[in-house]
Amino acid sequence: MGLISSIMMRLLRANAFEMQALDTLAESMKAISILKRDKFRRYYKSSILPIPCLAYADALVFNSNYYQMLSPYEVLAIGAHEFNHIAKRHIAKRLPRTVLPAAVFAIVTGYLFFINSTSFLFVASVIVLFFFFFLFGSYYVNAKWFRKQETESDLSAVEFVNGTAMISALAMLRPQKTSWLSKLLPQLHPTIEQRIHNIQAAMITKNSFNFTITFGDGVHQNLSKVLSHFLLQNERFLSSSEPSAFYSLTYHLFCGWLRKAFCKVVSAQAAF
Ligand SMILES: [Zn+2]
Repeated sequence: MGLISSIMMRLLRANAFEMQALDTLAESMKAISILKRDKFRRYYKSSILPIPCLAYADALVFNSNYYQMLSPYEVLAIGAHEFNHIAKRHIAKRLPRTVLPAAVFAIVTGYLFFINSTSFLFVASVIVLFFFFFLFGSYYVNAKWFRKQETESDLSAVEFVNGTAMISALAMLRPQKTSWLSKLLPQLHPTIEQRIHNIQAAMITKNSFNFTITFGDGVHQNLSKVLSHFLLQNERFLSSSEPSAFYSLTYHLFCGWLRKAFCKVVSAQAAF
């Protein structure tokens, strides 16, 4: 994979840059494969990349014009989305569903033509043509699965970075009008509106504890602050001391339950 991304970086005339904040984020999101690469060959900018950002298993490429418009928080938000793709190996998982079946179908079709024709050039053109035809088809068939991966990456990014920055980075991509071509192509991402909506919903859930306490009176607010501070400190302590996965999960669930329960109590109290 390192070879593929190296070739692509040359084709995209991409310039490498380093960023410690992205490295730290990659580490906490367990995007291991990118961290294995040389520190100076992880992040790239390209002026000819036709999309805002692209993730390989071991590198990220930003469109340089888009990158220029982003605040440091927005860069991290996009990085977090891409690191989730890398950590969950989405890129590798896509190959058996797209390129592989397209190649097999194209070769079978080429073979069927080969029986009736002896021209190598003709058979080779048939294989190439049908490869792209089947590849296009496989994107249609898997579009929903792709969109699911994108939503998952947006939502897990919001757990690590500022959700508002993610929304503003997405809002820059909102199309002025939808072209007939984009309607024809398979929709591999949810719409920008849908993504923003999902992130907002996730942010509300994430902040529901803090949100609810604003309705409480002084005593409740102080109690809530003490509890949330206590939970946060403990989570930090636990994540820094690397507890076992089972213990960490149980504790996480317990904290979530405690937060929810406390929210219910506080909001019920605040109603009076
Ligand atoms: Zn994505």
